[in-house]
Order: sequence, then C-alpha cells, then structure tokens
Amino acid sequence: MDFQKMLTEQTCTCGKTHSCNIKHVLIEPNVLEKYQALVADYKHILLVADQNTYEVFGKDVEKALGTKVENLCVLKRDGILVPNEEAIAEMQTFLTEETDLIVGVGSGVIQDLCKHVSFEAKLPYHIVATAPSMDGYASVGSALILYNVKVTLNCRVPEAIIADTNIIKDAPMEMIQAGYGDILGKFSCLNDWKLSRVVNDEYFCQFVYDLTMEMVYRVKDSGEALKNRDPEAIQNLMEALIGVGIAMAYVGNSRPASGSEHHLSHYFEVVGLLRDEPYFNHGTDVVYSTYYTQKLREMLLGLDEIKDHVAETKEEREAHFYAIYESAAKEIIALQDKMGWYEIDRVPTYKAKWDEIKEVLREVPSSEQIKAYIESVGLDINEFAALYGDEKIQNALKYAKDIKDRYTVLWMYYDLFV
Ligand SMILES: [Zn+2]
Ligand SMILES: [Zn+2]
Repeated sequence: MDFQKMLTEQTCTCGKTHSCNIKHVLIEPNVLEKYQALVADYKHILLVADQNTYEVFGKDVEKALGTKVENLCVLKRDGILVPNEEAIAEMQTFLTEETDLIVGVGSGVIQDLCKHVSFEAKLPYHIVATAPSMDGYASVGSALILYNVKVTLNCRVPEAIIADTNIIKDAPMEMIQAGYGDILGKFSCLNDWKLSRVVNDEYFCQFVYDLTMEMVYRVKDSGEALKNRDPEAIQNLMEALIGVGIAMAYVGNSRPASGSEHHLSHYFEVVGLLRDEPYFNHGTDVVYSTYYTQKLREMLLGLDEIKDHVAETKEEREAHFYAIYESAAKEIIALQDKMGWYEIDRVPTYKAKWDEIKEVLREVPSSEQIKAYIESVGLDINEFAALYGDEKIQNALKYAKDIKDRYTVLWMYYDLFV
C-alpha cells in the first residue's frame, strides 16, 4: 500500500481537503534498519514498553536506537496493565528537559499511554506495533481509565507507525482475530454512514467510503491465512488497520470506522465495567456485533409495512437508562437531550424514502456470510450469546445507540420495531 501517497494532502469532490498528520508508516519484515533513518534527528528518546512487549520487541528496538535512548520505561504489573493515572505518572517520571521523542513498543494500552503523555508534554511520539489488533494506531483518541472511569481524550496522531511483520505475525491469536474483526465491522459502519446520508442528509464522502471499503476487501477473505499466521496476510491486515485510521483522519472523526457494531461493543464494555461482568476484546466484540446489526438490517428489509412509531414517554425512557446504565445514566440522558433525536419523528422520512433505504440496506453481506467470515478466522458466533445471554443482547440492540451521538441502523430499529 502506498502510504506516502495516502499521507499527502488531497482535495476532494466532497468539498473537504483530506489530510493526515502522520509522517511515516513502515510495515515490513526486519523493519528496524529502515527505522533507524527515521530517528536520525532525535537524540533523547524515552522508550516505553510493558514487560511483555519489551521481551517481544522492545529490547530489539532499544538496541537499534542505541545511545539515542535517554530513558527506558518498562511498565511492570502483576496483572494486566491498565492505562490509568498511575501508569501515566510512572511514565512522566522518565521525562527530562531534553527528551525530544517518545517511542512506545506495544499495542492498545501502550499506544494510549504514549499518546496521552506525549500530548501533555508537547512531544512527538512513534508507535512500534506488536500486534495487528485494532485500527487505533493512526487515530487521535487516547482511551484511558482515569479514576476508574473510561474516557477517550483527543490527542495527536503518531509521527510514525512502525511494524515488523516477523514480530506481529507471532502476536497472540486472539489479537489477530480481533484485528480481523475490527476490519470486518466496517461493512456495518460504512452502511450506517450511507443510511444516515439518506435519512438525515449527513455529510458523506464517497472517496473515504471507497477507501475504507477497499481495506475491507483486502482482508475479508484472509481469515484462514491469518489463522495460519501467513506473513502476507498479516502484513495486509496491519496495512488495512492503519489505512482505516487514515480514513478517520480524513473526515476528522470515526464515522468511516465506527457505527452500530461499535456502539454494541461499547455497550458490552461500559456495562461490563459497571457491573464487573466479562466482555470480549474490542475487535472480537465488534465482529460478533456486526452479525447482529446485520440481522437488524434483514429484519428491516423484511418489513411488510411501516407502522407509525409509538414513543415511550421521557420518564419511561429515563427509568430504563437508570436501570441499564446506573451511575452513567445521567451523562447519557444529557447527551440524548442535547441531540434531541427522540423528539424527531423519522417515520415519514422512512416512508418517503423506503425504496432508497432498502437499496442501501441490501448492500451489506448477509448475516450467514458474516458468520462464515467469523468462522474463517477461528471465532464462533455462538460464544457471543453464551457469554452475554439473550436479555443483554436485546438490551444492547435497544440502548447501545444512546451512548453515542451518531445515527445508525440501531435508531432505525428503534423507530420501527421497539
Ligand atoms: Zn472527500
Ligand atoms: Zn474498532
């Protein structure tokens, strides 16, 4: 993939100029030789890893950077490393007046920490990826858990993203499956975006849509090869994950990469954290949820007639929010009050545009096909219902939309079925 071209600013027929502030993306075997040239101008690097990623690749990066490494911060924990205020403070103790670059070696958590600490310190950062597990490498959002609350803070994109195919192909299989799942989820969110253009006249960019869909097509049939850790398939997946991140930067938000399937996955995570209940890792939740959002599209396509929506009262609705979201309910109510979407009757629009809407809904592969993709990478959709149970899944389909300020098929399902 020609990243250098993708990272060059381009004007678009949608009226926007699309750009991304990442300067370099290097994904190849034995990447460190080339990487050395990219850090030529830096002299005082803070290198960050956790004890696993340090063993896996951190010490090789340390060797390659040589005397440029001013400080090494290896975050050691007995259990899992949480991106919280404690980890942030620990990293900050390694910064000096002279530090000119932060290099993180790892995936999600290390990346979120480096994003935040570098942003606060006004320093550039590089991420050396150890797993093709999610599409956040190229994004601005840093997902942290501060004082036990999950927050996403806007920071900056990395100056460089580096991955050695020889290293990431040996990542834990559930991380590779999650990366595949995060990409497969784009079938769902891209469709949500198109749907919202029809229903709400939302801004839509065909170029970014096509670019993101291209990433899905690069990866969708490689489940089997990924299961076998085929280096080419792994390289493709990593490129697609970063490509999607660039697509997000192009529109300035996560619209091309996150829709109803991500809202469901956030629901399971938020409710799981509130109630101390288990949930799948991000991309796995996303691909399982994609199967369920596709089931909704199929239900909608099977409608014989569109009935008027009988809305519950505001009191009834808020009582449900408190029952489901407990301490987080207030925030959710405030968000939905601000959006005002409960006050809008969308049924007349659905009736007027039903043929066009059906055409859009038909574009996603069938739930059976999605199930086949899920199986191809060694996952099993039955695990989803087994972990969450029917009631929790039904609640997610009804209430996950309320966590976000984004129109998706979940709203259409609410308007026409709930
Ligand atoms: Zn555009
Ligand atoms: Zn995702």
